[in-house]
Amino acid sequence: MRGREPPVSCSSCGRTVPRNKAVVDERAIRFSTEQKEAEVSYFSTRKVYYCISCAKHRGIFQKKAEQAARMAARRQGM
Ligand SMILES: [Zn+2]
Repeated sequence: MRGREPPVSCSSCGRTVPRNKAVVDERAIRFSTEQKEAEVSYFSTRKVYYCISCAKHRGIFQKKAEQAARMAARRQGM
């Protein structure tokens, strides 16, 4: 069924938030595995969900606003 997404929990305060109201912060993590022959390091992105108040507290909204402003500027330039 579509339209009903499972809730996510805020990774800061642990509150359960509906996914459409959660703020997603995507961050890159580097893994490195040190083995005898192969030394592999690779990047992965991890999605971290925050509730709105925690997102505000951490300044994630500012980041999003910056991105939006950049997009708007790009649109105006065209
Ligand atoms: Zn929270």
